[in-house]
Amino acid sequence: MKYDYIIVGAGLFGSTFANLAHKEGKKVLVIDKRNHIAGNIYTENIEGINVHKYGAHIFHTDYKDVWQYVNSFVEFNRYTNSPVARIGNEIYNMPFNMNTFAKIWNDVFTPEDAMRHINEEKKEIVGEPKNLEEQAISLVGRTIYEKLIKGYTEKQWNRDCKDLPAFIIKRLPVRLIYDNNYFNDKYQGIPIGGYTKLVENMLEGIEVKLNTNFFDDVEYYKTMAEKIVYTGPIDEYFNYCFGELDWRSLKFETKILDKENFQGNAVVNYTGHEVDYTRVIEHKHFEYGKQEKTVITYEYPADYEKGMEKYYTVNDEKNNKLAEEYRKLADKEENVIFGGRLAEYKYYDMDDVIKSAFEMYKKDLD
Ligand code: FAD
Ligand code: UDP
Repeated sequence: MKYDYIIVGAGLFGSTFANLAHKEGKKVLVIDKRNHIAGNIYTENIEGINVHKYGAHIFHTDYKDVWQYVNSFVEFNRYTNSPVARIGNEIYNMPFNMNTFAKIWNDVFTPEDAMRHINEEKKEIVGEPKNLEEQAISLVGRTIYEKLIKGYTEKQWNRDCKDLPAFIIKRLPVRLIYDNNYFNDKYQGIPIGGYTKLVENMLEGIEVKLNTNFFDDVEYYKTMAEKIVYTGPIDEYFNYCFGELDWRSLKFETKILDKENFQGNAVVNYTGHEVDYTRVIEHKHFEYGKQEKTVITYEYPADYEKGMEKYYTVNDEKNNKLAEEYRKLADKEENVIFGGRLAEYKYYDMDDVIKSAFEMYKKDLD
């Protein structure tokens, strides 16, 4: 065997696993079918600005070991995500906090004032919230639900909020303090110089082959390595034997503008149905850029079709069951480790992907 591990996918999971193994003297080959490393966290330098090519990525974590790990490859800046939401010609602070409440209701000055409104509005929900609409109203009331949640969510998922699971909205903080930080985690920032540089440094000294699809020669790769670490789609690995898993996709429209500052913030959410996009990203603001030009990206949610990128898992009953069937097959597959968002069919933040690679590598050694 030429390699201890052949790692399919140079995204964050594959690169973390490869880095850990390489550091311990294992022989590792990383292959990726794309023409670049870093998977979905890839950033490309355009006009001196690091452009997040597969959607905006903000690193945030509560895990000290993960934070120290990523900081050992590249320095992180102090970026704190504070998106603003635009509906028609109104602007509100996100996530839902005292700044939002004070602007929504003009008699709100204190947390008690805000709670009075929310408690009054949430009376319409009796018992446990049964869907996303009920969950949202019981968290922040109907006024905010209709202005800042309903349109955004329906565009994002192409479904009525009554047909979506409650847990999706529970990710967003609701705060009775004046604090626009989108995340609750202790550590947050953006790698200075972009995510590609982070992954480049993780893969230093490791053999990487790009434009190389595992499925072009599965048997060959299996004879070349003790173990395969597979981070591609799980259903594809098993030749879709139970059928295809559903995904939501995205379309990005990127423009270079001949002005220094387009929207004054890295992320502006568009929460109404008057436009089809959900957010506009102005990439330079992730790194406090002072370039003369700016690069912006309109993000349009899209139904997944063959040939498109897979972005969000669809965690309804049908897909959860199907994924479980594939997981059972994966458990039986000898000498193959399945990891990352595509192989686990899981909504995974970057820090959890790294943590999971730590754990799977350790488990493999034991
Ligand atoms: P990927 O990055 O997808 O890597 C898998 C790699 O495998 C790809 O490069 C692919 O080309 C390769 N591959 C697949 N099949 C094959 C094959 N047959 N042969 C060879 N190579 C193959 N997380 C955060 O923490 N903060 C954020 O702000 C954040 N924002 C996000 C925004 C969006 C729009 C989305 C969709 C996700 C966001 N995430 C965020 C999550 C983050 O993108 C993931 O956690 C991370 O990219 C997962 O890494 P991965 O290695 O599992 O997958
Ligand atoms: N959401 C919303 N309004 C917003 C932003 C988010 O209603 O302005 C809802 C929407 O349902 C979305 C969910 O909150 O799917 C999670 O948002 P998050 O920003 O975590 O989405 P992601 O980063 O995963 O795209």
